[in-house]
Amino acid sequence: MITKDLPLLRSQLTSLNERELIEVMVHVFEAFANRFQVSGDIGARYVLAKSSFNKNEDEEPYIEFLGVPSEPYLGYVQDEAFENGSCPTCGVIVACIDKLATCPVCGTMGVQCT
Ligand SMILES: [Zn+2]
Repeated sequence: MITKDLPLLRSQLTSLNERELIEVMVHVFEAFANRFQVSGDIGARYVLAKSSFNKNEDEEPYIEFLGVPSEPYLGYVQDEAFENGSCPTCGVIVACIDKLATCPVCGTMGVQCT
């Protein structure tokens, strides 16, 4: 347990840009899934999501689930997850820093993000 180092860890995490935060947290959540033996077609996962909302409008919040690229970076990588698309397997909106993402909810690879 690293309880005494939590303030340092928080400080380091808050200094990351969005790309780095996604890379760190998605891999942390994958490790949690492995620890709790969540795998295959049925299970529960921790995911990183970003919501957009307007408290002054009567609209549902818009939620994107942040995924990592499916393949080693294809070239046009951004520091923020500007690319997004719908997962063909589970239907959630996946946002990514590259054009092909792995869905953080169901694990489908190759989600097209534009
Ligand atoms: Zn999915």
